[in-house]
Amino acid sequence: MTSQTEVLSQVQRQTPVQPPPKPPAAHLDEYSKVLGEAEIAELRALASRLRGRSVHMVNSTLVGGGVAEILNRMVPLMQELDLSVRWDAITGGEDFFAITKAFHNALHGESYRLPDESFKTFLDYNLQNQQKLSFDADFEMIHDPQPAALIEARRANKGFWIWRCHIDLSRPNLKVWNFLEPYVNRYGGAIFSSPAFSRQLGIPQYLFYPSIDPLSEKNRELPPDFIAQTLERFQIDSRRPLITQISRFDRLKDPVGVVRAFNIVKRYIDCQLVLAGGGATDDPEGEAVLAEVKEAAGKDSDIHILDLPPWSALEINALQQASSVIVQKSLSEGFGLTVTEGLWKRKPVVASAVGGIPSQVIHKHTGMLAHSIEGTAYQIRFLLANPAIAQRLGENAHEHVREHFLITSDIRRHLTLFLHFLRSSSGNGNGS
Ligand code: UDP
Repeated sequence: MTSQTEVLSQVQRQTPVQPPPKPPAAHLDEYSKVLGEAEIAELRALASRLRGRSVHMVNSTLVGGGVAEILNRMVPLMQELDLSVRWDAITGGEDFFAITKAFHNALHGESYRLPDESFKTFLDYNLQNQQKLSFDADFEMIHDPQPAALIEARRANKGFWIWRCHIDLSRPNLKVWNFLEPYVNRYGGAIFSSPAFSRQLGIPQYLFYPSIDPLSEKNRELPPDFIAQTLERFQIDSRRPLITQISRFDRLKDPVGVVRAFNIVKRYIDCQLVLAGGGATDDPEGEAVLAEVKEAAGKDSDIHILDLPPWSALEINALQQASSVIVQKSLSEGFGLTVTEGLWKRKPVVASAVGGIPSQVIHKHTGMLAHSIEGTAYQIRFLLANPAIAQRLGENAHEHVREHFLITSDIRRHLTLFLHFLRSSSGNGNGS
């Protein structure tokens, strides 16, 4: 074993490479150039009927994970449309986030092993946040299960309360779901990311796809120099194919399964793997999963495990753009924005057929679906061996994202829903 192998086999905790000049966050007009003027004119027309209305977004983390990713761009763009938008992340101790992570896993179908007092602890933290935050907006948008019990703060005839659920509820652990359901049923409506996730609820349900911002640091085109410099910095060989999975180190993202699939591919094709992730403040399991992945990777210097800080959007973008194939081998998934990001970058994507992924990856049209480690390996090999097919999938994928999964569509759905609520307020007992 050489000393270089030793270095490469370690998890790389990297500081970001020297970034290209950072343009200010994009304004609405700039989206016209990418998406056409009609799209933005429509947003302005809808928003003109909501001018001055207030929106309060609440979730459980400002950094890390898909919800923070969406809100980071949606909030300023809605503000530019003259809505008054605030965003709060609820706070809690480690005990709270251990419970909400167990809820998350249980709602994705795993068993729930925490004692019954955990439900009381969950409610205590929700109550603390209820007392700390103010809920006086016209539209209170509460994201995911962690803050779901904040509905207790709703006063009669004040504001519209909407629960947006980003996770797969198609086969939830019933102990956790039966606990949450009465809270969810008190909202004025619930939003899901896929028709398969909806539940039998007594409130209206809506389908909103999650979205990415084509002009954000994560998704805009990058100078080739910066991409090359990023690869060099991470000691990745730009001449050999690169397979990449970007994800929090979370067992449901199955990074160990990705290593196993890569080991199969490598028997046939000389290639490299990047597993890049970082923590989210509401995810306490990252360290343990990282250790598991590191062990699975062993001493293979072609496996690059990158533990990136939260401000690494440009590096993630560069890694995605440099990839030959992007993988998302989740065992369970809400929607999988990393898939959307790969599709938008015209990359061939191999992803598990779970959660919202099949809405994005239409098998053999916008990417390849897989159902196992062997299946994932087979599809990666197929794409590496057939670059023309890979390129065609990438083109289809880009158009599919443009049509359905961009932030402008997500904002349009919000504005339409807000107008719908205002119009029908007299009938549903929710809101003023
Ligand atoms: N992400 C990131 N840094 C990381 C890991 C993920 O910025 O180290 C981003 C990723 O690019 C995507 C989001 O976090 O935009 C993850 O969203 P997704 O829906 O794929 O998964 P979630 O983490 O919400 O389960």
